[in-house]
Amino acid sequence: MAQITLGIIGGGQLGSMLANAAKKLNIKTIIFCDDQNAPAKNYTDKFIYSDYSDGEKIKQFLELVDVITFEFENIPFDSLNLMNNQKKVLPKPEIIKILQNRLLEKDFLNNLNIVTTKYVSIKKKEDLENNQNLLPGILKTSTLGYDGKGQFKIFSLNDLKSINIDFKNEYILEKLIKLKKEISVVITRFEKHKYEIYEPIENYHEDQILKNSKIPADINKDIVDCSLNWAKLIVEKLNYIGTLCVEYFLDQNENLYVNEIAPRVHNSGHLTINSHNISQFENHIRAVCGLEKIETKKIYNAEMLNILGNDIVKYRSKKHEDNEYFFDYLKKDIKEKRKMGHITKVFK
Ligand code: ADP
Ligand code: MG
Repeated sequence: MAQITLGIIGGGQLGSMLANAAKKLNIKTIIFCDDQNAPAKNYTDKFIYSDYSDGEKIKQFLELVDVITFEFENIPFDSLNLMNNQKKVLPKPEIIKILQNRLLEKDFLNNLNIVTTKYVSIKKKEDLENNQNLLPGILKTSTLGYDGKGQFKIFSLNDLKSINIDFKNEYILEKLIKLKKEISVVITRFEKHKYEIYEPIENYHEDQILKNSKIPADINKDIVDCSLNWAKLIVEKLNYIGTLCVEYFLDQNENLYVNEIAPRVHNSGHLTINSHNISQFENHIRAVCGLEKIETKKIYNAEMLNILGNDIVKYRSKKHEDNEYFFDYLKKDIKEKRKMGHITKVFK
């Protein structure tokens, strides 16, 4: 078979790990990214620096690739659509359109009778005043947020005075859940009823940023079953191809809610590189490039720690144990709370 060239939109750590997985499968990668210093430059065969809406650069990219995927979901829908008219974009842009928007995403889930937190669209200050039954809540921009960016906890209308909301964007107000735990399920769908799914991963966040992930998650069997079943239902209903992650909340009364769906490989799935025979990245590449599905099995239990900001400096010079795997994202600038690397420990 002729060598496949895969286009990847976005050049962060997820792009780097996708490019690495592709290399292992003898697939060539071209990364299309709007950051000239993107870390994935170090791992890909070719790198195109461009704005995500630059028609000329998109044309150049399209000429070089066989199939296109992405490492993040906040890509202008029109660009994805334009690309999809000429080359296959997977997962499909129409799916991304739903999942890019927290309101459409929650409507989709509720139509499937999947439980989410209570929510409402907020377009102006009065909408907040009229929905005080959802307080305490979290106000989030309905599109474009990540790692807690664009999110405000609101306990009473008084809190609005101390935060600066311009209402230029549409927001979503979600009821704040009293969390017991957060878990996630990573699943790769190949085609109808064919998928590989990883066991639920337990996640611990600090300041709305993922800090630790581990398998097995310390949850009961009903929660395991429900979280796996919902993830399967979601990928089937979306007719999804590729890897996707469902983030869940478990509240203090053991109720399970879907928080959000990430239509891509996910930070909580990094540990699959070392814990499983096939990682979330390899499964994604296999699915979008139409390669064979291989039964995915756990080899080790594992724990992953995100390394944020300046902490990376000490990990760079630390000696690691032979059950520890250190990943340096090779980001040029160290910024506070920025994900700079991670370390996975497996339990042999
Ligand atoms: P992001 O797109 O930034 O990942 P999330 O909606 O997943 O945004 O929010 C990030 C984190 O903030 C969650 O993992 C959780 O820890 C906390 N959080 C978000 N929404 C709620 C909520 N409704 N109730 C309780 N905690 C929340
Ligand atoms: Mg999230």
